Amino acid sequence: MAFEGLAERLQDTIKKITGKGKVSEQDVKEMTREVRLALLEADVNFKVVKDLIKRIKERAIGQEVMDSLTPGQQVIKVVKDELTDLMGGEHSKIAVAPKPPTVIMMVGLQGAGKTTTSGKLANLLRKKYNRSPLLVACDVYRPAAVDQLETLGKQLNMPVFSQGTDANPVDIAKQAIEEAKENHYDYVIVDTAGRLHVDENLMDELTQMKETVNPDEIFLVVDAMTGQDAVNVAKSFDEQLDISGVVLTKLDGDTRGGAALSIRAVTGKPIKFAGMGEKLDQLEPFHPDRMASRILGMGDVLTLIEKAQTTVDEKQAKELEEKMRTMSFTFEDFLEQMGQVKKMGPLEDLMTMIPGMNKMKGLKNVQIDEKQLDQVEAIVYSMTKEERQQPEIMNASRKKRIAKGSGTSVSQVNRLLKQFNEMKKMMKQMTNMQKGKKAKGFKF
Ligand code: GDP
Repeated sequence: MAFEGLAERLQDTIKKITGKGKVSEQDVKEMTREVRLALLEADVNFKVVKDLIKRIKERAIGQEVMDSLTPGQQVIKVVKDELTDLMGGEHSKIAVAPKPPTVIMMVGLQGAGKTTTSGKLANLLRKKYNRSPLLVACDVYRPAAVDQLETLGKQLNMPVFSQGTDANPVDIAKQAIEEAKENHYDYVIVDTAGRLHVDENLMDELTQMKETVNPDEIFLVVDAMTGQDAVNVAKSFDEQLDISGVVLTKLDGDTRGGAALSIRAVTGKPIKFAGMGEKLDQLEPFHPDRMASRILGMGDVLTLIEKAQTTVDEKQAKELEEKMRTMSFTFEDFLEQMGQVKKMGPLEDLMTMIPGMNKMKGLKNVQIDEKQLDQVEAIVYSMTKEERQQPEIMNASRKKRIAKGSGTSVSQVNRLLKQFNEMKKMMKQMTNMQKGKKAKGFKF
């Protein structure tokens, strides 16, 4: 996960101060020294660190904190607030043009993830905000970029405006906007050409595009894994194009976090979205406060809930609740449940969003074995419909057949059946408890 080293060090540091009934100036000095080292090691810009530490020190040694009943926790709050501010404070929303379509120009160096992010953004706009976007293929230089966008469009069942690689990118964009007006698309996402390095030709071309299409947003896509290079790239693009926001990609990798923590301070431009994986639904709106919370090990329940809301079907959730209450939960429901959880993303990522999870001893080094989940799924798929609905009919020969069909062993099948029964028992207890409280049923 991104920020792992930084998160670990910061959490160790703040642990020392959290429970203190009294915090001395010396304690604060020691803590800020460690925070400073942790940030520098995470490749955060030197000047950014210096300013941040100065502010943390001033506030933490201030009266309000020292005189409070819980000074340790107040100090942590100061650190969290300052990290949040550093990353831009409030979540910065995407623009909406007074008259559609809203035009978004995607810019960035080759390989940063521009084309993929264009697809992801279109997907997010449709899924989360209920908008209809038109993707526009203006990267006519990178071989296969146009094909790549068209393929993404097919995968997403989303329209792509393209005119091959011989047309002029500015003309393509102009025509695409006309097309969007005629067909009532409300967003136009223009995937522009990148280069391996910032160069004059590229900037001239992008400036010309900007002047012609007059975009509502210019999003610079940068690769978080490139650390301070990403910050320098952002600075150059901003100086030339006056970008409106940054999309930080590959935050799922083991980036140290320097780019995420420095870009806003260095360019003054907000990070609007974060790419959290290669899949087309792995783009998240960037919330500085939630990110600060994650870095400090306080979890990110809000993102978790939002993920659940966009992936878990409400109707299915209601039906499931009913089944739990009436004890008619079957292996088929179980499969459906697993599918929903999987759609929310890798389990390891989900774990980091649960507050306190990182503090649980033993869990820290647990690698969640997604293969095991696949095995469970294979076992259930090898059951007949009847067996899934009435697991009690399972006998030795059925178990043998299922084990063979799923490439597992009879003891693995037995283990799953046992777990399933225990789960049902637990549901019964929970629903009884809820009934006792006169509640309406089991709630997630
Ligand atoms: P472009 O040259 O800027 O258009 O870059 P592409 O969109 O072709 O992306 C380059 C590579 O980065 C591809 O292999 C993408 O799948 C990958 N990529 C893009 N965004 C992310 C992300 O958020 N996480 C990960 N792990 N990979 C990403």
